[in-house]
Amino acid sequence: MLNSDCAMENFDLIVIGAGPGGYEAAAEAAALGRRVAVIERDELGGTCLNRGCIPTKALCRSAEVAMTVGNSSEFGISAGEPVIDLPRIMARKDEILAGLRESVGMVLNDVTVIRGEAKFICASTVEVNGECYTAHEIIVATGSRPVMLDIPGKELALSSDEILSIQTLPSSLIIIGGGVIGMEFASIFSAFGVKVTVLEYCKEILPPFDVEIAKRLRTSLKRRGIEIVTSAQVTAINPGLTVEYEVKGKSKTAEAEQVLMAVGRRPVVPEGLDGIGVRFERGAIAVDDNMKVLFDGSAPENVTLYAIGDVNGRCMLAHAAYMHGLVALGKAKLTDIIPAAVFTWPECAMVGLTEEQCAAAGRQIKIGKAMFRSNGKALAMGEPDGLVKIIADSETDELLGCHICGAHAADLVQEVATAMTAGLKASAISTAVHAHPTLTEVVKAAVPK
Ligand code: FAD
Repeated sequence: MLNSDCAMENFDLIVIGAGPGGYEAAAEAAALGRRVAVIERDELGGTCLNRGCIPTKALCRSAEVAMTVGNSSEFGISAGEPVIDLPRIMARKDEILAGLRESVGMVLNDVTVIRGEAKFICASTVEVNGECYTAHEIIVATGSRPVMLDIPGKELALSSDEILSIQTLPSSLIIIGGGVIGMEFASIFSAFGVKVTVLEYCKEILPPFDVEIAKRLRTSLKRRGIEIVTSAQVTAINPGLTVEYEVKGKSKTAEAEQVLMAVGRRPVVPEGLDGIGVRFERGAIAVDDNMKVLFDGSAPENVTLYAIGDVNGRCMLAHAAYMHGLVALGKAKLTDIIPAAVFTWPECAMVGLTEEQCAAAGRQIKIGKAMFRSNGKALAMGEPDGLVKIIADSETDELLGCHICGAHAADLVQEVATAMTAGLKASAISTAVHAHPTLTEVVKAAVPK
C-alpha cells in the first residue's frame, strides 16, 4: 500500500507525537547525534502541557489562592471574600502554557519538527500531508484522549479538554467519575465557590490509591462541601442537565448547571498501524519491557517500532511516558517505582504497593503512620489535616510503599520513591537527618519500626 507518488525523506529515528514521552525521547536521541524527526498534529507538549498536567495545576494554584484568601482571617489577615475572575484565571493558565510551548520548541532545536497527522504506510514509513518519511526506528508516542460514557445525553457533558477553556463559572457542577482527574476538578471548582457533586462508580474514589488515603481525602473534601456519591452508576444525562444514576438498584437524580465527564482515557492509535499486524491489548499498543511493539505474526525486519507513554496503556502519567522514552532509547531500565499524585486540597500521593495490594499478594508487612497535626511546620502552615503511611516488609525492612494525604504530598512522596529506587531499607529514611521544621519530618516519623 505504499504511495509511489510520495516524496521520501529518511531519518535515523521518527517520533510520532510531541507530548512529554515523544518530545523528550526525540531531544534525547538528537543529543546522541542521531537524525531525528518528531511529527505533531497539534500543539507541542501534548496532553500534559496543553490539556492535562500543566493547565490543571495552574487552576489548582488559583484555587489554592482563593482558599487561602477565604481563610485569611485564621492567619490574622483581613482580606474579605475572594472574587473569582474566571477569564483572568484562564488567561493566566494560557500564558503559562504559551511560555512552556516555547520552551519545548527550544528543547527540540536539533530535531526536525514536522507538523501534521502521521499515518503508517508500512511499518517503516509514515505519511504526513502527502510527504513520506522513513526510518529504521519509529517511536509511537501518540498519547490518549478522554473517554465519554456511551449513555443517552453524553453530548451534553463537557470533557476534561473542554472544561479547561470555559469562561463562565457555573453555579453548580456534576462530575461523573471520582478518579484523579475528576477529583482535581472537584477540588478546583469547589474552591471557586461552585457547588460540586461527584458521582463515582466504584465503592471508593481514586481507585488506584490506598483505600485509607482515598477515604481520608473523601472526608476532607466532604467537609469542604463537596458532595461525593460512591457506587453510583450514571445512566443518562437529560436536557436541563439532570443526571440519572443508580445506587444499589435505587434510581436517583442530580441537577447542575454543567456536567463534566471524567471517566478515563483511551489510547490514540495512528492510522495504518492495525494493518501491519501490531498487537493491541484493551485498545492500547502492546509492548515488551523494552517498549518494543509486539506483533501478532512475525515482526517486520527492516524497522523497530516502539510505543511509549499513554498509547501503550501501562501507566498514564507524564513522567512514566518520559521514562518509557528513555527505555526505548536504551538509556534506562523499566521500573514500576513510579510516584503518582492527585493535586486536590489536601494533596494525595503514592508510590509502590498499597496495603490492599500487599494483602492480596500475601506479603508480611509492617505499617508506620504519622499525622501532620503533630508536626510543627504543618501547624504553622495551617495544614494540620494529613497522614503519611509507609509500608515495609516485616522481615527484611524492604520499602514497599508510601501513601500520603496532606499538604505537599506530591513532593514528600519523592523521598520514599528515591529510596525505593536505590534499594534502601525503610530504616535509611529514619536514619537520615531531616531538617527542622519541615513536613519531611512527618515522613521520617512514619517509618515503621
Ligand atoms: P500525550 O501527552 O497525549 O501526547 C501525544 C501527542 O501525540 C499529542 O500532542 C497528539 O496531538 C499527538 N498525536 C496523536 N496522534 C498523532 C498522529 N497520528 N500524528 C501526529 N501527532 C499525533 N500526568 C501526570 O503525570 N501528572 C499530572 O498532574 C497529570 N494531570 C493530568 C490532568 C488531566 C486533566 C489529564 C487529561 C491528564 C493528566 N495527566 C497527568 C496525564 C498526562 O497528561 C499524560 O499521561 C501524558 O500527557 C502522556 O504523555 P504522552 O507523551 O504519552 O502523550
